[in-house]
Amino acid sequence: MPESGRIVYLDHAATTPLDPRVRAALDPWLGERFGNPSSRHPFGVAAAEALDRARGEFARILAVRPHDVVFTSGATEANHLGVLGQARANKRHGKRVLIGATEHPSVREAARSLVREGFAVETLPLDATGGLDLDATTRLLSADVVLVAHMLVSNEFGSVYPSRELARRVRARAPHARFHVDASQALGKLDCAPAELGCDSLAFSAHKLHGPQGVGAFVHVGGAIEPLFVGGGQEHGRRSGTENVAGIVGFAAAARLADAERDDTLRATHAARSAMLARLAEAGARELVPGGRGLDAILAVLAPGLPAEVVMHHLERRGVYASAGAACQSRKNEQSPSFAALGLTPDDARSVLRFSFARTTTRAEAEFAAQALVDVRRELEAVRS
Ligand code: PMP
Repeated sequence: MPESGRIVYLDHAATTPLDPRVRAALDPWLGERFGNPSSRHPFGVAAAEALDRARGEFARILAVRPHDVVFTSGATEANHLGVLGQARANKRHGKRVLIGATEHPSVREAARSLVREGFAVETLPLDATGGLDLDATTRLLSADVVLVAHMLVSNEFGSVYPSRELARRVRARAPHARFHVDASQALGKLDCAPAELGCDSLAFSAHKLHGPQGVGAFVHVGGAIEPLFVGGGQEHGRRSGTENVAGIVGFAAAARLADAERDDTLRATHAARSAMLARLAEAGARELVPGGRGLDAILAVLAPGLPAEVVMHHLERRGVYASAGAACQSRKNEQSPSFAALGLTPDDARSVLRFSFARTTTRAEAEFAAQALVDVRRELEAVRS
């Protein structure tokens, strides 16, 4: 236990706690209900029906057909289907692939691996305020572009990108391109229906919305994909391998709750963000991407001159768990290219903290974290002077 005797978890963009209601929904499928959905006997049939219900639930939320939903091991795999699966299936039209400047490594690295297959990968530019530069992007669009991949919400800054407008330009100038959207940080906070976003495909991950880890979905409404795995032909041949029934049941329950309780999430995350913003100046910090462009749920903070790793350590001692940059980047111990794309110097990039909130975050927790940040700043400055 930290000195404060209290733990305030503000790293929901990395993962969220499992909702007890989700746990109750999936629990039987980890116990007595254990059939393989491909088996013909009653245990198998029951599992197949559970999968159908989950798929139907998901399809309802996204206003797609159940057939459009492919359950995966998470957003990483869904992004691989979106990038590799679609670029490969579409390569007769050209070799150009365009991706956002702030993509998650699962998109960036998947795209990079396409270079070995003869594709040319280009990055879409940001404008001076960190938004997608739509005009410069439009100039890159042409008939030989086979895939455009862009996230809806940045896991690092919370920025919301203009998917619909990008889709409009892609359709007008790159008629053969598939448009894939990584909506991992958006489900339960924004409308992610493909008809709303104008995209061909989407990636989701259950553990970002109080569902279990290791399960996600690839949703696609247009065109064929080349599968990544072949074998038993599950998911209509698009993703072989026995389905994670418990995980999928949990994911559908989490998606249903996130959809039904979206207003609560927006209210809670707004209150938490406001509480932290109110004290940032006192902590010698500022919002990295100033307001209005993003979701309240993710607050990236720049504390110039203070290495985020050191601040994190001191916050941890006080029981505040947040993140220095994004969790998936920290493992590699290298700086995220997103910070450079945003125009940050390497020193400033090392001073970025991320606080991320959820439906379950209280204002009191955010106030506690803000106070902790102010105290840490004072303490570190006192040591220095
Ligand atoms: N895309 C984004 C935007 C994410 O935030 C994450 C999770 N950090 C992923 C993809 C990958 O999700 P998973 O680790 O569940 O595969």
